[in-house]
Amino acid sequence: MNGELRNPAPIQDASPDGTAGGTADVIVVGAGFTGLSAALELATQGHRVRIVERDPEIGGLAGSFDVGGGRRIERFYHHWFASDEEILRLCAELGVSDAVEAHVTRTGMFYANSIYRLSRPTDLLRFAPLPLRDRLRLGLLALRAQRVKDWRELEHRTAEEWLVSLGGRRVYDVVWRPLLEGKFGHYADQVGATWMWTKLHLRGGSRTKSGSETLYYLRGGSETLLTALHKRLTALGVDVLTDTPVDSVTFEDGRVSGVRTAAGEHLSARQVLLTVAPEQAATLLESGPYGAEPHPAAPALLRQLRRVPYLANVCLVLENNRRLSDTYWLNVNDPSFPYVGVIEHTNMDDPGRYGGTHVVYLSKYLPADAELYRMSDEEVFAHSLPHLRRMFPRFDRSWVDDYHVWRAEHAQPVITPGYREDMPPLETRLPGLYLASMAQVFPEDRGTNYAVREGRSAGRLMADRLRTLPAARAAEASRD
Ligand SMILES: Cc1cc2nc3c(=O)[nH]c(=O)nc-3n(C[C@H](O)[C@H](O)[C@H](O)COP(=O)(O)OP(=O)(O)OC[C@H]3O[C@@H](n4cnc5c(N)ncnc54)[C@H](O)[C@@H]3O)c2cc1C
Repeated sequence: MNGELRNPAPIQDASPDGTAGGTADVIVVGAGFTGLSAALELATQGHRVRIVERDPEIGGLAGSFDVGGGRRIERFYHHWFASDEEILRLCAELGVSDAVEAHVTRTGMFYANSIYRLSRPTDLLRFAPLPLRDRLRLGLLALRAQRVKDWRELEHRTAEEWLVSLGGRRVYDVVWRPLLEGKFGHYADQVGATWMWTKLHLRGGSRTKSGSETLYYLRGGSETLLTALHKRLTALGVDVLTDTPVDSVTFEDGRVSGVRTAAGEHLSARQVLLTVAPEQAATLLESGPYGAEPHPAAPALLRQLRRVPYLANVCLVLENNRRLSDTYWLNVNDPSFPYVGVIEHTNMDDPGRYGGTHVVYLSKYLPADAELYRMSDEEVFAHSLPHLRRMFPRFDRSWVDDYHVWRAEHAQPVITPGYREDMPPLETRLPGLYLASMAQVFPEDRGTNYAVREGRSAGRLMADRLRTLPAARAAEASRD
């Protein structure tokens, strides 16, 4: 943590222009891990911060929901790797480290109507869909990928080119192509090699010598950390407004002046941090006065923000009274199966913590206009049942006590070759406007650990600028 805790003055004095709640130093739009971490950094340094979140609860993609009987589960599955140091450090800082638990988990693959275990190196040798020579090449591929230490070597290559060069075409077609297509759909052949490299590195780093994978999860899920974070922010005087969608960013005299909410309220601030997806940030900027009278830097920024492709995600969450299998993470390499992963959460965490329920996530990344994304919850469930029966022949509808469907329109940015040049900047050329989202954690892939890292570095930079702002403005005024 930077420096000691200092409580900033509350944002409650009526401002002279009649805007709601006085002027904050910073308004953070979005209460996911990025926004909350940025607010923590700023408030710790004594700044007055207001977080504005459209959902009724904080947490964003890492939020949980109520399943009755006082039980809460995450809307989307989460786990951490040993390398997720930033979020583990935050746990320590907020006193929840004792809730971090390590779990040895099993990984598998569904291919041609069979489930193959792929946790240990010896499992690879038994992977029948590939001839022996290619099984060995698959094993070598992981080792060769580990040997690449600098992702910049791969920056301008696609994942396909790189993986074929490491393991050959057949290994690519059986193992990697279906996974890339399942995750990125029609963007699969445009995915950059750096994205794949970070994935292979993380997974390689989380495996023991025997090949089993150790993952980390908080007792109580992400919510344990979110609750601690919320408590600390409240103690620091941060104003957290939920149920408050922001409609536009406002500007005055060429500088950011705050945000306007969907209810038409103006909340003023000296700086604004947008933690929404780049495309959503563009919409918030275009809905403001810049649409009518653009700042010279605005058109280029808007073009840049709209260039980052995103995929949505739909997760069918099952509450089962029976275990589907003993695998935690099942990759689906069968394009006719509607999901890319079947994640049996309670094969990582203890089902006893969920009243004996076996919690399973079926996950699919897809464009927001895809049929599965637009189906009603009942349709999603009915559509999935025959596929589940194909995967687990003994499965029966009676195993499912309840189900839930969660959708996120902005779930995964698509990292293409040369992405670094397209990545939106943290500090924009529109004075007072900052951006931090999961599209900006490159070369890493999105994840709560990187959300915390990104949020904290945004907070540090903005705090720095706030310190120098009065001097810079005085210099500007003396020049006028
Ligand atoms: C299916 C799935 C599985 C995942 N698995 C893992 C995992 O295993 N491990 C891991 O570490 N990470 C995982 N992640 C990624 C992780 O959830 C994200 O990287 C992280 O939560 C992103 O945090 P964020 O704050 O950047 O974004 P978000 O959580 O998206 O937060 C943005 C916030 O902005 C709010 N917002 C948007 N528009 C407005 C508006 N106009 N006004 C006000 N508020 C607005 C949103 O409601 C949201 O709360 C997973 C994500 C998904 C989708």
